[in-house]
Amino acid sequence: MNADTQLYINGHWVDPIKGGTFDTLDPSNETLIARVAAASAADVDLAVQAAREAFDEGPWPQMSGSARAAVLRRMAQGIRDRQQELAELEVRDNGKPLPEALWDIGDTAGCFDFYADLAEGLDSDQEHAVALADERFSAVVRKEPVGVAGAIIPWNFPMLMAAWKVAPALAAGCCMVLKPSELTPMSALELARIADAAGLPAGVLNVLPGLGQDAGAALAEHPGIDKLAFTGSVPTGSRIMQAAARDIKNISLELGGKSPFIIFADSDIEAAVEWIMFGIFWNQGQVCSATSRVLVQRELYAPLLERLEEEAAKVRIGHGMDEGVLLGPLVSKGQYDKVLTAITAGQEEGARLVYGGARPAGFDKGFYLQPTIFADVPQDSWIWREEIFGPVVCIRAFDDELEAVRSANNSRFGLAAAVMSKDLTRAERVARKLRAGIVWINCSQPTFTEVPWGGYKQSGIGRELGEWGLNNYLEVKQITRYDSDQAWGWYLK
Ligand code: NAD
Repeated sequence: MNADTQLYINGHWVDPIKGGTFDTLDPSNETLIARVAAASAADVDLAVQAAREAFDEGPWPQMSGSARAAVLRRMAQGIRDRQQELAELEVRDNGKPLPEALWDIGDTAGCFDFYADLAEGLDSDQEHAVALADERFSAVVRKEPVGVAGAIIPWNFPMLMAAWKVAPALAAGCCMVLKPSELTPMSALELARIADAAGLPAGVLNVLPGLGQDAGAALAEHPGIDKLAFTGSVPTGSRIMQAAARDIKNISLELGGKSPFIIFADSDIEAAVEWIMFGIFWNQGQVCSATSRVLVQRELYAPLLERLEEEAAKVRIGHGMDEGVLLGPLVSKGQYDKVLTAITAGQEEGARLVYGGARPAGFDKGFYLQPTIFADVPQDSWIWREEIFGPVVCIRAFDDELEAVRSANNSRFGLAAAVMSKDLTRAERVARKLRAGIVWINCSQPTFTEVPWGGYKQSGIGRELGEWGLNNYLEVKQITRYDSDQAWGWYLK
């Protein structure tokens, strides 16, 4: 059967060698958006060869940082010029409300501009001298691109997750093969068009939609890849790590979370309700850093639950393109079924369902789910411990700071955490005790390109964004020189 799309390899749009396709559906009504050309291992091989050649023989890694920055800035502008259209594409493919999609696309463009600045910075910062204890020698330390990078990304922020990898990798001078999620492949294909129009040399960025077990696994195992950057679930991350172990690939992993939000009794109840809702209902709760475990100090517990329930009932559910909608459909049938299974497990394990838990009335088609609140959630229950990745918040009461911090840190994950209190000394103290890579005080989720993103424990390895994101794609080399006129004199006396 003919595909509606093609693969982008070596600057050309091509059909997959084996002709495979997969369907991408609109989660609001379960209709076909496109029959997408699916890459197999043979296509991955071609794309890696193209990226290899572009890196080993092509101009990109040899260009000045400023010259690369000019291309990145044209990409940022290309994204901005098409912001509305790209946002609408994300709404169709992912289901998210349009204002969130517009925000994502704006952030995507901003990410390219940010790494354009850092690419320019490399011109003055690529090498620096290091004084050595032995003055007969001099040394310079130099940053160089790591080589050919493979990037495998999830479906929750399709174009933004691509940007978090593509922008710093290109800024560093790497060449790439990008595999978007099979659930949301459309915007990555547009990113390839934008890169092409911005004058990115052929082979520098190759975009291969495909299934995880085919294209994804082939990329993770390919010996021509120097670095593998992965964002997705812990089980897939573990598989990627095993594949990468075979030939000692440099890897970075951005994985799942079960992020706690500690709310002390002195907090403003309205602010607490708003940030809880943003922390768990934004993007239908399909956010790796979602504050899905909420710990509320006992004095505030009952009134907060009451206000939260009132506000959850007001959340407008609907198609992402409809005005005022705050909760769209979940991304897929698979994700919808997973979240419903978790809700059933929560009820069976003794958590109290305060609100939601089912398909909202009036929605016969599409993967719509009510915003869902569980209270009195047992600490050893599955829903308290594991990532649900849906609009489901789990809440418990606590009595004192020590108990709250212990409970928050009692997790195999460590991506994000949040704390709320009017007592800033206490909030700052707690923030320093939380074992997580991202900690918010008096808010939850706002994400900035300037600061590092990534997790402790099983939430991942390495950091994206900021200068840390660029360092992911750089090797560090020392060049040490013997400057003395005297013979070394070890063997030849
Ligand atoms: P997933 O692990 O199912 O898939 C992620 C990507 O891996 C997809 O492109 C998929 O095709 C690919 N893949 C699947 N099997 C593969 C294999 N065997 N080899 C190579 N690639 C393979 O995750 P998902 O459902 O797309 O995304 C949700 C997960 O991502 C959640 O756990 C979420 O917390 C996490 N996430 C983390 C961050 C972060 O920054 N830490 C950001 C977004 C999402």
